[in-house]
Amino acid sequence: MRTAFIAGNWKMHKTRAEAVDLAKQLAADVTGNRTRVMVAPPFTALSAVVDALAGSKIQVGAQNMGPAVSGAHTGEVSPAMLVDLGVTVVILGHSERRATYLETDDLINTKVTLALEHQLDVILCVGETLEEREAGKVDDVVLGQLRAGLNNVSAGSMAKITIAYEPVWAIGTGKTASPEDANAVHAAIRAELARLYDQTIAENCIIQYGGSVKPGNVKALMAMEHIDGALVGGASLATDTFLPIVAFDS
Ligand code: PEP
Repeated sequence: MRTAFIAGNWKMHKTRAEAVDLAKQLAADVTGNRTRVMVAPPFTALSAVVDALAGSKIQVGAQNMGPAVSGAHTGEVSPAMLVDLGVTVVILGHSERRATYLETDDLINTKVTLALEHQLDVILCVGETLEEREAGKVDDVVLGQLRAGLNNVSAGSMAKITIAYEPVWAIGTGKTASPEDANAVHAAIRAELARLYDQTIAENCIIQYGGSVKPGNVKALMAMEHIDGALVGGASLATDTFLPIVAFDS
């Protein structure tokens, strides 16, 4: 039985005061244990949000992480720094990092293994562009990113890995993959995990869907056999849209 996992990616939104305000409102409502919930504020608000959510049911994640423990990496934040703040999860390989900041599969894999060495949980994002989908390359692209991202990740570490399938054409566009289409890709991801590891690891792995998840479509997505959660961008920025997503099963 997989525990549903709903994560909010706040991207480059919210000052510290705005972030704390939203975090406190969410914490007041998210009190049950049924669904795992996480928010990923910008780096500047991480510390304040960790404090605001102390003792709550909501975990705090980072949206990215530098590829080294310390050193001459201007502008980067190391895994040790995230752990020091009380962050427990890091999102890696988001399509905006891949497309805008030219992060390669190799770099993402370096970050994944480094995050695991620091006991951080990882949400590894994979997903195809519209061009790749139209060219019939969904499985090639998504499973290629999956294999590369998990290179050298041991079976023993897989309990700390969540996969987020985020078709690039559905992120921030209002277009959502149909639940059936998303489920088909999730099933392919799970089959690949069984091939790379074993059936038990594949069955236990949480695979989130991301791409314009809203209160109005979350139920249908979450009803799919292989969709175990959501990585939510725009709709995670306000309580009136994020809380109904968290409460998809009520
Ligand atoms: C995301 O950024 O991971 C995302 C899925 O964004 P949105 O929900 O806004 O499409």
